[in-house]
Amino acid sequence: MAVAHGLDVTRLSKHIEEIDRIGESVTGLYLLKSAEVDILKDGSLDLPDAILRKLDLTVCAVHSHFHLSRNKQTERIIRAMDNPYFTIFAHPTGRLLGERQSYELDLERIIKAALERRCFLELNAQPLRLDLSDVHCRLAKEMGLKLAISSDAHSATELDYMRFGVAQARRGWLEAENVLNTKSWKDLKNLLRRA
Ligand SMILES: [Zn+2]
Repeated sequence: MAVAHGLDVTRLSKHIEEIDRIGESVTGLYLLKSAEVDILKDGSLDLPDAILRKLDLTVCAVHSHFHLSRNKQTERIIRAMDNPYFTIFAHPTGRLLGERQSYELDLERIIKAALERRCFLELNAQPLRLDLSDVHCRLAKEMGLKLAISSDAHSATELDYMRFGVAQARRGWLEAENVLNTKSWKDLKNLLRRA
């Protein structure tokens, strides 16, 4: 989003080039290229496929139009997942603890749609979010969907938020095998639909 000084195609292209350049100079590490991509009101993504295909994975999220009906919101998100470059659905219910309730959505339908399309859901470790909830984490596990735990860090110190996400995952009875972060790059690559 412009308000968050979001990346446009030109700036994201520069990031991609830079990550590739740095990636070539380090050994024993593979630097993943990714971006948080906005899901627009009609379910399209806010960056063109031509640039999204250059990323290893995407983290896609709703940041506007929170007041759609349950059905419309659910369909908007599933339509976004239809995009072949959609990987992880970030902070899936949009709640901000003490500030904002979740928007209306059918999470069971979203999980089913994610399974069918080889997409994943995020467990966002930001202490105001912790979204998915423990109950939703357990539902995802029972339905066979793996989750990605993300710090949502906006600075290096916020990488510490990761431990709140791990604690939330444990509350939801998740084990290592249910969490994408525990995979090697080789295994993760096989789980991604674009592999
Ligand atoms: Zn976000």
